[in-house]
Amino acid sequence: MRRHARDAAAASATDLTARIAGTMHAVTARIARGRGDEPRRRGVAPSEPSGDVRLDEWMGVALDEARAAPAHGDVPVGAVVVEIGTGKVVAARHNERERAGDPTAHAEILAVRDAALALGRWRLDGYALVVTLEPCPMCAGAAWASRVDAVVFGAADPKAGAVGSLYNLAADPRLNHGPAVTAGVRAAEAAAMLREFFAERRT
Ligand SMILES: [Zn+2]
Repeated sequence: MRRHARDAAAASATDLTARIAGTMHAVTARIARGRGDEPRRRGVAPSEPSGDVRLDEWMGVALDEARAAPAHGDVPVGAVVVEIGTGKVVAARHNERERAGDPTAHAEILAVRDAALALGRWRLDGYALVVTLEPCPMCAGAAWASRVDAVVFGAADPKAGAVGSLYNLAADPRLNHGPAVTAGVRAAEAAAMLREFFAERRT
């Protein structure tokens, strides 16, 4: 019985990875088309429903994390690390750059570190990094280094995004592996939170 459950979880993980990979190809194709039409606009595809209830749920946890950041003056970005097969969230953090005075204290870095500590290993294959804003080069690097199978993000970041907007470290053939990427999951909510934060700071 337990073995059966494990097999089912493994099958489910494979299925999700395949679906995420499919989405990634679709997003990549849209980005390529967008670039062809508008060479100066190097954005990720616009927000649209992911069509996957699990991704939406995981992003909900990341969005809740993000909401805690402005209390200490930090930009609202939240990240979670999730076991793909079971949906178990093993780490959830938000941006703490201002609070910690640490340029590397981005939500993704903190979540990846927490996950590795919790699991007692650096390799996070079988896990997904889910983050409200497209990872920057440092965090895309952390996703690569941790070997997560998937990166799921909300809002695109045209100023620093490194999994589609400015760079795509997740799909660079010069790197020996890369996570599947799903862009635009609950992007409108993530973007609204960021807009509100910066609008309040300006007033
Ligand atoms: Zn980052």
